[in-house]
Amino acid sequence: MADYKFIHSQDRCVQCGLCIDFCPCYVLDWVDGYPAAVNPDACVGCTTCSGNCPQRAITIEAIGDASFNPFVDEERSEGIPKEKSDEYAKLERVIMEKLDLRWRPVAVSLIEKDELLPDVPMPPENLRFCQAMMAARRGASILMPPFRHSCPDGTSIFGMTDVPKKLATGEIYVLFHKVVSAEAAAQMVAERPTLPANSRRATYVAPLSKTVRDPEVVVITGTPEQMMWLCMSMSYYTGHRFDFHASGFNSMCVEAVLYPIMTDQPNITFGCYGCRAASDIGEDMMFMGIPTELLPTVASGLTELAKKAIPDSRNKIYVPPIM
Ligand code: SF4
Ligand code: SF4
Ligand code: SF4
Repeated sequence: MADYKFIHSQDRCVQCGLCIDFCPCYVLDWVDGYPAAVNPDACVGCTTCSGNCPQRAITIEAIGDASFNPFVDEERSEGIPKEKSDEYAKLERVIMEKLDLRWRPVAVSLIEKDELLPDVPMPPENLRFCQAMMAARRGASILMPPFRHSCPDGTSIFGMTDVPKKLATGEIYVLFHKVVSAEAAAQMVAERPTLPANSRRATYVAPLSKTVRDPEVVVITGTPEQMMWLCMSMSYYTGHRFDFHASGFNSMCVEAVLYPIMTDQPNITFGCYGCRAASDIGEDMMFMGIPTELLPTVASGLTELAKKAIPDSRNKIYVPPIM
């Protein structure tokens, strides 16, 4: 199991207490004037304490059994038929080709409480959901039950655990200087959707062409220009404009995944503090979560746009010679 050890250097520590305040899981407290892991079993390996220590006095080391798998004797789900898999592979190919995407679209599944798990490996160490997403766009397939998630925010938002108190009240966001007050933090928390506690048992992410389960949402990483064409691929048929929900908080879990699931509409997100600090997301990259049933519309809309609009725009046909 992915247990973690809190390694602390008293020589470097200035006893400021930030690590204790920042830990979302109430693992740390004062012992003889220094921070110590008084509740080590609650540690999820999020590295919030070490990342916020001004003295770099903390190391979080994974000490658990990387091969721990409580589901080893459990029946797994059958997987989607080959025709469906071929259909997803074709959608992936068309979308990537027409947009000239660098990264693969990621299929996201939130496995229901009573559902069989797909036959997909778990990571050897805990990851944030957004870190798993970034790995999936490069080709990885990752199954994560709650004990493999390292972001307690994302885990509770997806209905796999209860929300830790510091996150539920928004108190921790004030510590991060991300909001001016507890009231503003509470408002941000109140406005975000959350699945009911203990309603899901795992997240599963994979490149669209490799998914073995019908995903609820597909998340595309791209530049603002590529996001523009994604919008236009859907409004190509209807002329409709979109109302997006974006905040810079809980980007991948709430904005790229939950909003599309709950509204049956695509949603844009710019990334968030957490996922940008915890992954290699480029400064110029943003994301769109698209409900799976809209993907054929996206692919055919892009195919139409690629006949004239996309190449004309990329060729800058209206730039005057003086520029
Ligand atoms: S944040 Fe760093 S310096 Fe401050 S108490 Fe914790 S270990 Fe010590
Ligand atoms: S890694 Fe996260 S959960 Fe563990 S002690 Fe540090 S802040 Fe707390
Ligand atoms: S997007 Fe933010 S809240 Fe969601 S899992 Fe990543 S770091 Fe956590």
